[in-house]
Amino acid sequence: MRTTILPIIILLLGLQSLPAQTLDSRYHTYEEVNAYLDSLSQIPLLQGILSVQEIGRSNNENLPIMAAKLSDNPTVDEDEAAVLFLGQCHAEEILGLEISIGLIDTLIHGFQSHNSHILAILQNMEIWIVPTYNPEGLRVVHGFQEDSTWVQDITYRKNRTDNNQNGIFDYSPGIGYDYDGVDANRNYSFNWIHGDVLGFGDYDYFRGTAPFSESESRTIRDLALSQFFTFSVAYHSARSGIPEIIYYPWEWDETKYPPGYALIDNIAQELGSRIINEAGDGHYAVTPGKTMRGNTHDWFYTQTGSLSYLIEVGTNNLQPGRTLINDTVRRNLIGCFYLIDRALGYPTENRSQLRGIVRNAVTGEELEGAEIKFWKLNVSQVYVPQEGSMFAPRLTDQFGRYRHIAQQGTYKMVVSMAGFEPDTVLGITTSSSFATDHDFSLNPYPENSLELTLSSSDGANDLYLVEFDDAAGCDSQMVSAGTYQMSRRAPTTTVSIFAPSKFPQRHTLNLANNGNAGLSAVLVPSQSVFMDNFADMSHWSGNGNWSVSEGKLKTQPELFYSDNTHQTLTSQRFNVTGMQQLAITLQHQYEVEWDLDTLAMNLYSGDGMLLLSHHWIDQNWEGLSQTCWTSDIAGVDSAYVVLTMNTDSTVYFRGWQIEELTVFGTDSTFTGIDDDEHPVETTTFAYSAQILAIESNPMQESTAIRFQIPQAERVTVRVFNVLGQEVYQTRLSAQSGVNNWRWNGQSNRGHRLAAGVYLVHFQARDWHATQKLLKITTQG
Ligand SMILES: [Zn+2]
Repeated sequence: MRTTILPIIILLLGLQSLPAQTLDSRYHTYEEVNAYLDSLSQIPLLQGILSVQEIGRSNNENLPIMAAKLSDNPTVDEDEAAVLFLGQCHAEEILGLEISIGLIDTLIHGFQSHNSHILAILQNMEIWIVPTYNPEGLRVVHGFQEDSTWVQDITYRKNRTDNNQNGIFDYSPGIGYDYDGVDANRNYSFNWIHGDVLGFGDYDYFRGTAPFSESESRTIRDLALSQFFTFSVAYHSARSGIPEIIYYPWEWDETKYPPGYALIDNIAQELGSRIINEAGDGHYAVTPGKTMRGNTHDWFYTQTGSLSYLIEVGTNNLQPGRTLINDTVRRNLIGCFYLIDRALGYPTENRSQLRGIVRNAVTGEELEGAEIKFWKLNVSQVYVPQEGSMFAPRLTDQFGRYRHIAQQGTYKMVVSMAGFEPDTVLGITTSSSFATDHDFSLNPYPENSLELTLSSSDGANDLYLVEFDDAAGCDSQMVSAGTYQMSRRAPTTTVSIFAPSKFPQRHTLNLANNGNAGLSAVLVPSQSVFMDNFADMSHWSGNGNWSVSEGKLKTQPELFYSDNTHQTLTSQRFNVTGMQQLAITLQHQYEVEWDLDTLAMNLYSGDGMLLLSHHWIDQNWEGLSQTCWTSDIAGVDSAYVVLTMNTDSTVYFRGWQIEELTVFGTDSTFTGIDDDEHPVETTTFAYSAQILAIESNPMQESTAIRFQIPQAERVTVRVFNVLGQEVYQTRLSAQSGVNNWRWNGQSNRGHRLAAGVYLVHFQARDWHATQKLLKITTQG
């Protein structure tokens, strides 16, 4: 009810208090921006360096979103570094739009006057400039006549999406209280779930009804995914927050930084130091973003690899007059050219970067879509990964090209591509005075043939889902019974075979032995031994926040789980007498903090032997069906499932939702009908033991490592420094299941150890594991 009444009140208030609102005519209206770009594109002399393109339309009024691309041969993609400038996202923050127009003017003027610096940029780079991607909001800020009503709000921020679908534009001149509209800088998919919902009061940060619900953010997403932007900048102004500051990814809960943070932070410092503030007594400040909520720069960095910055230009006086506009544009252009020059490797700037081309070693063809990973050697002589599990893979472009802005130092690179042998290079040293070129040639795996015969023991006319997972990629096909000749460009392959009411099979085949392999799979009927779709919790007992709603088992009733969660849910025992093998299929979705929070599913025999273990340490909220197998369990009479969640003390997500969990078995010893010449191994997902989570890494005073082992035994824990010297040792009486080992960062003699990297080694009878720990000094 309130959602329908409130906007009407707001509208009435808005109409009666409409002030005369004027902006300096120096500011470009939406129509003026388009007319300006259009006039430039008409000038024959500029057609060799400027392409004006419509890259998308606004969400509600279908207004064109225009981009200017400045480069030689501007209508084609060339093998050149690209940089993106987004002039305006939030409508009232109009200074950035003027900076973007100023950048276009400067590049054109430099071209016309044969400025050698600008000519080098145009020849070697692609500069993309989107003056505004919020044309609907920009028109509201400047004001326009609509259905005989003057619509204007110089403090408007969002687009004009009709949130309550009442057919009326619900806005209120003055800060906040604009019921309609979506904040484009909360609408990107990365961490969108943490953004603002439509509440009462200040509606200005509404994230939208779904990630990329708005065509404005989709337009920028699609541009970013079609190009490879080395840097991207989004201009904003700070209405109430800190002005003249640069944000970048990220610092969550004061402890969590993204992979590659040292680089993106270093570039921010360099950028900020070059942009003089309005008062003229300092420069722009820099800080990693503290929030996680669907922001543009976090999405760009994680999903495209672009080093991405949000610059809050101007002071809290968002819309100053022309003298200050011109001054702000002039000071900020220095920042634009710093980033352009850094990507270009232009003289006088730090030129450290790694770049090269990845080719097919046999044909010499450039390989598009090869994945490249970087590690940088730190002061402790440890290679530190520059990518992480929350990143989309960094891929080569259509020219087989990779570009990585680097710091001065020593790098390791690994290049991989489906169907090719991966290649690793160590000890590549970068220099501040030149870009380091390193090309890769990848050897294709030979086409190995595989003869696959599929049938069912009961003679049923089944359809089989066959899934391959190997160096050639992951793919699947649906086929009927019969014999198939297949080929895989991989030395080994793992093939999983599913059919309705049959026990699924999984085999790992060696294909490289003599060029061909065979598998004759006879699927046998499966028996469901335990099934739960969580109509209630009567089959389970445990501790913590587990709950059931919407027909799903959830790790907690609330949207997000809590920090420091350690909860377990154990199923009743079920009879598995006579079974030779078990498998579990889960219909589920999950979302935990990458690498640090853990979901696990273990299957135990009635007497506590671990039969199967699988864990999830990342995110898949789209949902999926997943199957895990035990190895041979002959002789086991009963079994039970244990679900656990363990989280660390910061950063939380939506956890786990399980729609259905089925344990099924087979009483046949099928384990693959081996072809005599090509032995088939049955693989399992069973881990005998594993490290589950680390309380804090980097650690300060102390940290704890959780690990699990299948049975109670002595575990020796040793800590080594980077020189390989043992600095601490202890022996634990570990329990069957989950154990927690805490270390206070001290040696056995009680000396506090120096900051740096330490390796923690766990040694049990049949298991050992090493965990790297970074110890940092406690800040005062
Ligand atoms: Zn903004």
